Amino acid sequence: ATRTFDVVVVGAGPAGSAAAMEAARAGLSVALVERGPFPGAKNVYGGVVYGRILDELIPRWWERMPVQRWVTRRSTMVMTPSQALTVDFRTEDWGRPPYNGATAFRADLDGWLAEQAVEAGAVLVTSTVVTGLLKDASGAVAGVRTDRPDGDLTARVVIACDGVNSFLAKEAGMFPDEHQAEHLTLGVKQTLALPRETLEERFAISGRDGVDIEMLGCTRGIPGGGFLYTNLESVSLGVVLGLTGVREAKTRPEEILAELKRHPAIAPLIRGGEQIEYSAHLIPEGGYRSMPELAGDGILIAGDAAAMCLAAGIWLEGVNFALGAGMYAGRAAAAAIGAGDTSRRGLSGYRKLLESSFVLADHRRLRDFPGLVLSDRMQRNYPGLVCDLVQGMFQVDNPRPKPGLRRLLRRSARDNGVRLRDLVRDSWTGMRGL
Ligand code: FAD
Repeated sequence: ATRTFDVVVVGAGPAGSAAAMEAARAGLSVALVERGPFPGAKNVYGGVVYGRILDELIPRWWERMPVQRWVTRRSTMVMTPSQALTVDFRTEDWGRPPYNGATAFRADLDGWLAEQAVEAGAVLVTSTVVTGLLKDASGAVAGVRTDRPDGDLTARVVIACDGVNSFLAKEAGMFPDEHQAEHLTLGVKQTLALPRETLEERFAISGRDGVDIEMLGCTRGIPGGGFLYTNLESVSLGVVLGLTGVREAKTRPEEILAELKRHPAIAPLIRGGEQIEYSAHLIPEGGYRSMPELAGDGILIAGDAAAMCLAAGIWLEGVNFALGAGMYAGRAAAAAIGAGDTSRRGLSGYRKLLESSFVLADHRRLRDFPGLVLSDRMQRNYPGLVCDLVQGMFQVDNPRPKPGLRRLLRRSARDNGVRLRDLVRDSWTGMRGL
């Protein structure tokens, strides 16, 4: 028998749970359908959640969210095979309410978010794969087909939150051109267990404080970057690599990760760490320019399914965008259903909500940023330039007199194949982007 809901949300990741929460709170009947045996079962990310958007969804979320550590130290490391320059920042402000970022395990986080949706009244259906869209005579989306016998679910609005490479967005014809490989990166990650005291000593933290390190120049020139995050008794270490770059370099992501683990700046941090998890997942890195249409007749797309991940190699924000987009999708669905118009036009409030929030505003502002961070110069030339420049500044070469900064810069640029003109232009793009 077909079951009927006001809203069917596909995928119980952060986007899906936020959408289900918001729609259920508006008094709608909501099904949240997840293919995994439980929410977060197979979901992968680096490990840091920026929770600010939760203020609106779950007041005082920090008292209840399953957190490993609060990120009070953020570092960016620019490296070559034998050098590393780190910009390291810490603040006590991020270690107390309302906090900034936290490390958390996906199974804990996704499970907790889905629980909030269920508490709001949504029905969570696990171990169920959505296999297609139901359409009415006019071609409008009218529900979903699942892999269960008699598993059709009809709905006035379907919210597709099925993650990167969304099969539903494609089936609805929302991605005009095939999602291209150049917009995708592959993330591989290892979680390494360390005794708590060892970890806290190595990373100079205590209590529930945590560290987030992002790295540039550790991918053999393949567009991408690395990350290292501290959990309570483990670290998550990974690399993110452009799919096309990996293919061209004829190497395996595991090799790049193994190389990073041997790097002189990283090896001492993870020494003795025992692997407790290894995972890999795709990331949509194309940003604003690669997004599909966000609303169609009877359907909305949110989160990674709509390429809303802001990931430029070293920069990985996705959960916050997914939560925000899901929340606005739930809200827009409720408004459209309330007004009796769930056509593309009736659902167009979704885009407006996104445009006036950080979700699309940040993406629009940073639309050139992924291109810059993933560019050849940024990946192959600048890490060497920066490291050589700093090495030159810090190196004491007496009795020869110290070269001036301008000479050092010229020399480092020349040695690393950088034209100063490009450097100035890229710095400007970077500054503008930030
Ligand atoms: P997902 O989390 O992918 O959830 C999609 C859900 O849909 C899944 O539960 C899946 O099982 C389900 N599903 C899919 N298809 C179907 C179907 N047909 N039927 C039923 N269910 C289905 N973001 C951050 O904020 N911080 C980070 O540190 C970070 N690091 C990352 C590191 C790596 C290596 C990777 C890969 C990603 C990282 N991201 C990070 C990005 C982040 O993981 C995503 O942006 C975020 O998970 C998107 O949420 P979502 O709900 O849109 O999709």
